[in-house]
Order: sequence, then structure tokens, then C-alpha cells
Amino acid sequence: MQFIDLKTQYSQLKEKIDSNIHKVLDHGQYVMGPEVIELEQKLAEFAGTKYCVSCSSGTDALVMALMAYGISEGDVVITTPFTFIATAEAIKFVGATPLFVDIDKDTYNISPEKLEQTLTSIADKESTIHDSICTDIGKIKAVISVDLFGLPADATEINRIAKKHNLIVIEDAAQGFGGAIDGKRAGSLSDIGCTSFFPAKPLGCYGDGGAIFTDCEETAARLKSIRVHGQGEDKYQNVRLGLTGRLDTIQAAVLLPKLEVFETEIEQRQSVAESYSSQLRDIEGLTVPSVQAGYVSAWAQYTLMAKSEEHRSQIMEHLKSNNIPVAVYYPIPLHEQKVFESLGYQSNDFEVSSFAAKRVFSLPMHPYLRNEEIEHICKLIKEL
Ligand SMILES: *Cc1c(COP(=O)(O)O)cnc(C)c1O
Repeated sequence: MQFIDLKTQYSQLKEKIDSNIHKVLDHGQYVMGPEVIELEQKLAEFAGTKYCVSCSSGTDALVMALMAYGISEGDVVITTPFTFIATAEAIKFVGATPLFVDIDKDTYNISPEKLEQTLTSIADKESTIHDSICTDIGKIKAVISVDLFGLPADATEINRIAKKHNLIVIEDAAQGFGGAIDGKRAGSLSDIGCTSFFPAKPLGCYGDGGAIFTDCEETAARLKSIRVHGQGEDKYQNVRLGLTGRLDTIQAAVLLPKLEVFETEIEQRQSVAESYSSQLRDIEGLTVPSVQAGYVSAWAQYTLMAKSEEHRSQIMEHLKSNNIPVAVYYPIPLHEQKVFESLGYQSNDFEVSSFAAKRVFSLPMHPYLRNEEIEHICKLIKEL
């Protein structure tokens, strides 16, 4: 069994993917070819935004979004410590400083209540655990919310709180793309949305890739300029710093047929998740993922919480010894990572994140997981 099975999907889409790749080899427009433009139009339509700017990876999508808003040295950007390193890395990369706000214990996403408390106490000049990073509310420029494990963060609350303090909200939908809140799709939930097409993400290509979503024409234009070395009106006119941030035409060619089946795959992911939860819900000491009413998760991961670190090891060992792949996302919250040591946080500053890091684990999850496989995994967990 595989943790994420990419081969079954390929065998089902092989004809279209192969012929699409060959079309690119034949026309030879390897960079910014017609497939890239077509994909951007279809992605924007899917996400429900006016513009989509494809790019080289999910990490670059975040970097480009931050650059498009002019966020740089001296600025502070709020995010969650319970996410993939890239979220906070992008903030550091543009020269800004990440300020962490703890997660909600049920959704694993940044807690709107704690976000509001943090902003209010910094604005009121009260002493906080963030004193080494920021005591001046004016320095805080943006919030990066993360749709962890595929579940959209509470965009309504986050947008409302951010607006009060004049902050941009960047949605990191690298795991959430395909999810939605009340029918509004992930990637379109805040000012700007970023996603990744890394192979293991809900919508993945066969290499690295990403995309940025926005309704703002000016921002889209700036992103397109940043994507090619800060290009101006003319190819050899450079008006700002940029990067080599393009999505390969071959990757767009791979993504086009995958996007056609994406909605169906998201539904298949729902039934896998529902099947898992119905069989695991009543096990003592095990917490199944919660999805609030109106929310659709893209189920990038199916993540359970054990009652203790020992309990988690026990289940994981048992599954591994029966050849079931399992993984921990994420064993070390970002405020405890060496790369962020200089921020000055203490390991117990974000209790919920640290609690989750010690107890969560993820089961195999992909649209092609068969009922027998799900039952087998659940039976192994139940027999412990
Ligand atoms: C995967 C991921 C990224 C980075 O995407 P890449 O395409 O690997 O650069 C950013 N944020 C989150 C939450 C991710 O899961």
C-alpha cells in the first residue's frame, strides 16, 4: 500500500497526459507555452477568482505574493507555527519576520481568537511573548493563514480581524486547494491565495509547480512581472526585483487533464475520509478530524490525534509492521525549529501546536484508496 498513490491516477489518465506532453515536445514552447495560459484560465475559473498566475512552486507562490505587496525587511508577518516550513520560510526569505499565533485545537488552523488577542495586546502595548519580535503594531503587514491538511482556515473571521488592523491576508492553500467554505473555493478565500502542485498535493504535477490567485488586476500584473525578473513593458526593461518563477509548459500539460478529474477526486477523498472516520470515531483516546458545517476539506492528509505520544508510537509501529505507511505532519512546530531560534520563542509558547505535534499522525490518503484497504487499516488500529 502507498501513502499517496500517484500511479493509479496516471494509469487512468495516461493517454491524455502522454499526448499532452508530446504536444509540448512537438511545438517546443517549453517556457510559457499555450498550455500555461490555458491552465491559468481554467484554474482561475475553478477557484472563482479573476486572475491566476502560475509559478514555479508553492514556496515561490508565497514569496511572490509577499513581494507583490512590497513586504520586506522591517515588516512582520503573522502565521501559524503548525505548518510546513515553507510558510514561514517565505516570510524570512523576503527579509520580513514571522510572528507566530497558536492554532485551534479542533481544526489545527490558526486560531482567530488568538490572532485577535495577539493583535490587540500588541496595539495596546501590553507585554507579550512576541516582544522580541514586535512591539509596534504598525510593523505588522500581513497574515498568512494555512489550510492545514486540506481544511480551509476560518477565512471569514481572519479576514475580519485583519481588516480592522489593515493587514493583507495571504491564504496558503498548498494543502487546501480543492476545499471550500460555503461553496467558495480555497485559494479565493482572502486577498490573495497561493497553492502548490508538488506531486503529493491534492492537485499535483510531475515536478514542482504552483499558482497564485487574486481578484486584483494590479496585483496580478505585478506578480507576472515578478515571475520574470521584474520585467517592465518591454522584455529587457526591469522595473523591480523578481525571480525565475515560471511554471514549465510540460507541467501545465500534465495538470490540464488532472484538473478535469479534480472535482471527482475531491469527492472520492470525501468518501475515503468519511469511511475512515465512521470506523475510527468511537475508539477510546483517538480523535478523528473535524470539519465544520459548510466546510469542504481537500483532505491533503487524513490526520488523527492519539491520546499521548506513547499511544501514537504504539499505533504507528503496529501499522508499519503490517506494511501500512504512516507519517507525522509535523513533529516539530516551527517556533521550535533551529532556523527560527533567533526569533527568541520558548518551546512552550504555543501549547496547542506543541501538544498536536506530539500526538498527531496521518494515514494513507488519496482518491484511489479502496474500501478493503481502509477497512484493513481501521481493523489494525481497532485490534490494539
Ligand atoms: C507544500 C507546501 C508548501 C510549499 O509548496 P512547494 O511547492 O513544495 O514549494 C507551502 N505551504 C504548505 C502548507 C505546504 O504544504
